[in-house]
Amino acid sequence: MANKRLISEGAPKYTSVLGEPKRPDKTPAHLIPPTRLLACKRIKVAKILSLIPKKYLEVLEHNQQIASCCRHPEDHDLEAWYSRPEEKTPDIYIFHCRCGRQHRRFCVGGGDERPFWEVT
Ligand SMILES: [Zn+2]
Repeated sequence: MANKRLISEGAPKYTSVLGEPKRPDKTPAHLIPPTRLLACKRIKVAKILSLIPKKYLEVLEHNQQIASCCRHPEDHDLEAWYSRPEEKTPDIYIFHCRCGRQHRRFCVGGGDERPFWEVT
């Protein structure tokens, strides 16, 4: 009879390859990843109104939780960012209201149009 014994070395050690716990894939809506890169420079929304999907504007126009000035995105400036350098299309859009507030839209997957513009 083979003299096999299981040798216990105590509790298994769980360490990830990177040495830190894996972060959840979902980025909290209030947080912009530190790896972000500017995609499109800040521009007046009014100048590129035809490029911006209607629903981007409607979300602000219909939001009763925000100040009335913030519900007029045609008066805002808009900036587009890549959350990571590997991104091919911008996935973070930041509306800057004249009152100084920022309203961020995070695009996930292919469900959103991703407008792109050049500021010269
Ligand atoms: Zn405002």
